[in-house]
Amino acid sequence: MHTKRITIAIDGFSSCGKSTMAKDLAREIGYIYIDSGAMYRAVTLYCLENGLFRGDEVDTEALRAALPHLDIAFRLNPETGRPQTYLNGRLVENEIRTMAVSSKVSIVAALGFVREAMVGLQQQMGREKGIVMDGRDIGTTVFPDAELKIFVTASPEIRAQRRFDELQAKGETGSFEEILENVKERDRIDTTRDVSPLRKADDAIELDNSHLTIPEQKEWLLAQYRRAAEAE
Ligand code: C5P
Repeated sequence: MHTKRITIAIDGFSSCGKSTMAKDLAREIGYIYIDSGAMYRAVTLYCLENGLFRGDEVDTEALRAALPHLDIAFRLNPETGRPQTYLNGRLVENEIRTMAVSSKVSIVAALGFVREAMVGLQQQMGREKGIVMDGRDIGTTVFPDAELKIFVTASPEIRAQRRFDELQAKGETGSFEEILENVKERDRIDTTRDVSPLRKADDAIELDNSHLTIPEQKEWLLAQYRRAAEAE
């Protein structure tokens, strides 16, 4: 059967393993993988490093002026073959995953002009299809015509545990309660913001992966891909 190059949108709540499944799928089928959350994280890191926060408020004038000059790019790590995030030519993959960034990113991602700029870049990256992108609004706003849309969910406790294990493995400290609070708070901001709130696209397939292993999830996603790419 003929297999066509398609666009794959994977959306869902924080820390539900979207990026692991999206990355694995992209590698398996030879598609580009883009972590859209990393882009919002990079903008947030810029704000933190340049004193653009006053508590939970962003200096929107300064950010608006800086945004066109921010260069956010992904390059493959030659050793692991995984994409890494660069901000103005500097490797920031670790810096964007800290709690400091996690606790502010949803505030930055709720700004309309930031979303507009990021969505524009994301659509540019997906022009040629053959792309797997994960985030919150990929199936609803970035690629509303994607041939395959997945919406991933899992309970907040399970997601917080996964993030906790991930941070521990990297030697970062942070209590489980603090992480659970952060997961819940980001869910709240992401689902209630005015611009492109997190929601399942009508034509997305829902996956609750609370009790799935990574290999089970991988198989499931591959089957969805085959069905979507071989249709017609
Ligand atoms: O996916 P990740 O947890 O790294 O995303 C970080 C934050 O970026 C999310 O909590 C959300 O506020 C924002 N985000 C977004 N739209 C996307 C991807 C991420 O608003 N497409």
